[in-house]
Amino acid sequence: MSEQCLFCRIAKGEIPSTKLHEDDEILAFEDINPQAPSHLLVIPRKHIATMNDLAEADDAVLGRMHRVAAKLMQERDHSAWRAVTNCNAEAGQTVFHLHLHALAGRSLRWPPG
Ligand code: AMP
Ligand code: ZN
Repeated sequence: MSEQCLFCRIAKGEIPSTKLHEDDEILAFEDINPQAPSHLLVIPRKHIATMNDLAEADDAVLGRMHRVAAKLMQERDHSAWRAVTNCNAEAGQTVFHLHLHALAGRSLRWPPG
């Protein structure tokens, strides 16, 4: 837990979010600035700053985050969707609490910008 971390504060309920899934390890909520008709964020409750900070002990929760994203996308009838994690500022990371973006509902081009 990091006192100042935006997503730790969302996970604790100190900052409101539109929650889509919540369990003892994971939270999913709507992105405040959606880049697609569906744009969800899935985070571990544990504060992990970036993908570079993952430990072996985090393997299970990372897998579960992907399954939660898939479940939420399937509930919205999105069979095609994209999972993205930006790692560090030059790759577009702005919130330094690891999160999975799940995007769907429009044509998604490759490669991303
Ligand atoms: P990234 O740039 O990969 O670190 O992604 C951070 C994401 O968090 C962006 O897509 C933002 O729109 C989103 N975001 C920032 N503040 C909030 C918030 N209070 N609630 C929901 N999403 C947020
Ligand atoms: Zn955090």
